[in-house]
Amino acid sequence: MSDNILVIGSGAGGATVARELSKKGKKVTLVEKGNFHPKGSAAKNLKSKLAIQEIDTIKEEKLKKNELYKYLIKNLTDDNVHRLNLELMYLEGVGGTTTVSMANACYACSSCYADSTTTQFQRHDLELYDEFLEASQEMNVNPLPFEYRGPITQKITDAGEKLGFFMEAMPKFIDFSICDKCGNCLFYCKTNAKWDSTFYINEAQKNGAELITDFNIKRVLHNQKRVTGVEGVFNGNKKIIKADKVILSAGALNTPIILRNSGIKKGVGENIFCDLFITVGAFLKDSNFNQEIPMGVKTEFGPYFISPHFSAYLPPLIEQKYKEQGKTVEVSSKDVVGFMIKIADESNGYIDKKGQIFKDISSQDLKLFEEGIKKASDILIEIGADPNSIVISPVRGAHPGGSAAMGRVVDESLQTEIEGLYIADASVIPRAPGRPPILTIVGLAKKLAKIIVQKS
Ligand SMILES: Cc1cc2nc3c(=O)[nH]c(=O)nc-3n(C[C@H](O)[C@H](O)[C@H](O)COP(=O)(O)OP(=O)(O)OC[C@H]3O[C@@H](n4cnc5c(N)ncnc54)[C@H](O)[C@@H]3O)c2cc1C
Ligand code: SF4
Repeated sequence: MSDNILVIGSGAGGATVARELSKKGKKVTLVEKGNFHPKGSAAKNLKSKLAIQEIDTIKEEKLKKNELYKYLIKNLTDDNVHRLNLELMYLEGVGGTTTVSMANACYACSSCYADSTTTQFQRHDLELYDEFLEASQEMNVNPLPFEYRGPITQKITDAGEKLGFFMEAMPKFIDFSICDKCGNCLFYCKTNAKWDSTFYINEAQKNGAELITDFNIKRVLHNQKRVTGVEGVFNGNKKIIKADKVILSAGALNTPIILRNSGIKKGVGENIFCDLFITVGAFLKDSNFNQEIPMGVKTEFGPYFISPHFSAYLPPLIEQKYKEQGKTVEVSSKDVVGFMIKIADESNGYIDKKGQIFKDISSQDLKLFEEGIKKASDILIEIGADPNSIVISPVRGAHPGGSAAMGRVVDESLQTEIEGLYIADASVIPRAPGRPPILTIVGLAKKLAKIIVQKS
């Protein structure tokens, strides 16, 4: 008789493993805490958890002298200067966080970064090349074609190259044969050109997998040795489902909580990274950059990269900056150009028993940001943005991971200390990739499906 396999979470990891296993004829139940987002509403439902910084006194004195740090904490009061909250973003519901992605499809390979995820997993004897290739074909991964670059993105590319930076087209999981260049990737792709994990969920269902929504899994049941099922809340009632194998893919901020509730504690919820990012922006009247396909090109600098990006934080910050200079300038979204600086931050975060996250910006993180800000500002000025208008958005993180890392919580077959309990999501990535992780997570989930099929 075939094993009952239960997958928790329908984002990048969960949807992939459900699709792969159902394709191989396995009996799969995919359980999701949320429901379908009504068309176009996913971004409105974006959630964030505030990570508290715990700064010891010596570190604090050092940080207080750092100009960038002073700038970033500018809007905080004296009372909470010790506690610069970092906003970590994620989304619950069918498709998980993939539904709000910008379609960036980085392989996170050693040619962009020596401590890339590819290298990190190779250290655990896990090769993902075949899985990356499969995923790239299925997800339509291609560098953004030249004709899809907006005019400001092209100007930025030319300016960057003039200043000596290699600006390459961003690989995207977009079917360009149906993309209408609307630039709305984060909010709603009405043409279905952008891949998200609902594509894989649909296939899994066609293969016979069952999807149960609005089922909030609380813990995994086991007899100390082997998995026996899951327990959660469905329609306000406690519900138990028996299973022979459970794959936990609830995302890096939820997976550790379920593990802890299930009595698995060693190394869980420690070591968190989130690929911290900021957006540097400046005033360029009527540039209409906010309507271009976001992050169309990128430049790699080892542990960080920079990429053209608009953030809604920027217009009011620029207005405020002008005000401080005694000028009244109305700044709307169409008048702003910007760059995202995304870094491989230190894995120094942890989640406590109550689910509160603690995470510091380290001196090394600040150093990387400073380098990126300098380069991004030079490019923005080169394209004609006002040098007196440069501002920096708050620090955020959209790629939380590392909270149940390989080598600490799971072994090289992605299995925990409990036989039959596996993890396939961003939690298992050992250290920050500093790059968009969906392709890595999809690759890992494909690998896990192969491991399970081989074993059975
Ligand atoms: C605004 C934004 C833009 C991004 N853009 C990109 C991009 O362009 N490229 C890229 O590679 N990455 C991008 N990312 C990051 C990427 O989306 C995530 O890293 C990735 O989706 C994580 O995959 P995952 O499987 O770990 O978790 P998720 O995709 O978050 O899936 C977790 C799922 O588990 C469910 N769940 C949680 N708790 C429970 C529970 N108790 N019971 C049942 N189900 C549960 C959730 O509802 C969710 O569906 C972006 C992130 C954000 C926030
Ligand atoms: S530019 Fe528009 S059509 Fe193209 S992928 Fe993004 S949202 Fe979809």
